[in-house]
Amino acid sequence: MTTVPHLALNNGVAIPQLGFGVFQVPAEDTAKVVRTALETGYRSIDTAAAYRNEAGVGEALRAAGLPRDELFITTKLWNSDQGYDSTLRAFDTSMGKLGLDYLDLYLIHWPLPARDTYVDTWRAFEKLQADGRVRAIGVSNFQIPHLRRLFDETDVVPAVNQIELHPHLQQPELRTFHAEHGIATEAWSPLAQGALLAEETITALASKYGKSPAQIVLRWHLQIGNVVIPKSVTTSRIAENFELFDFELDADDVLAIGEMDKGTRTGPDPDTFNVG
Ligand code: NDP
Repeated sequence: MTTVPHLALNNGVAIPQLGFGVFQVPAEDTAKVVRTALETGYRSIDTAAAYRNEAGVGEALRAAGLPRDELFITTKLWNSDQGYDSTLRAFDTSMGKLGLDYLDLYLIHWPLPARDTYVDTWRAFEKLQADGRVRAIGVSNFQIPHLRRLFDETDVVPAVNQIELHPHLQQPELRTFHAEHGIATEAWSPLAQGALLAEETITALASKYGKSPAQIVLRWHLQIGNVVIPKSVTTSRIAENFELFDFELDADDVLAIGEMDKGTRTGPDPDTFNVG
């Protein structure tokens, strides 16, 4: 079976560079879809309290019966639960749904700058890590000023920042900042939810390498050092998105995809998103 490379996080914990995302997977389908992903070889699953499918992830993990230490499970604290005490309660709720006694990675889902509670929330994350309940703590959708504020006011540097990132939104400033501070970059909507798969640069490279457009984009993510978590409910695509380790893009082709950056988001802007 294919071995997915791992990256070392800033506290030494190893994260698989390729995982499986379950945003918009309906609750009733989640156990089956995650089971398919685990059978394909994925060992890292990315869910969130807000996806309302943590229980289905937990059901698939129990059914698969894999050793716990082969799995890497991520969930996220939803916006309405930000704050110190509410974070500790929300963590317990998520763990009950997942049926796990420890988590691999817990993320603050959004910074909510107008609400200004992410520093207190992060202190609760630090406690969960100190108590051994989660192996690594990180954030999602944080911009550079939000990260700097955590550096200034708290003790633990986030291990991960999970951000929207794909060829149309390459996030060069954040990626450089992450590299300078030892934060792993995890790409959400790595395929821009399918929107860029018909772009000529991508289809031409698909022909050149005899690979699908999605495989070209995912391989680009791996080669520029991102952790990547594509989502699919389609069995053939779940398999296709895992077959990334038998080819390599030439340096020129990585640069050609680099030229596709338009700075355009498919999702909300973290500086103004304050719902939930
Ligand atoms: P993706 O970029 O992973 O794209 C998923 C879409 O692309 C689906 O419509 C899927 O269709 C389609 N697709 C998947 N594989 C292929 C393929 N090989 N060929 C053609 N089409 C394909 O989008 P997501 O938004 O789901 O992002 C991935 C994960 O990132 C999420 O599941 C979630 O875990 C995380 N995320 C985190 C966010 C955050 O705020 N932290 C926000 C958004 C996502 P189908 O399923 O029908 O096969």
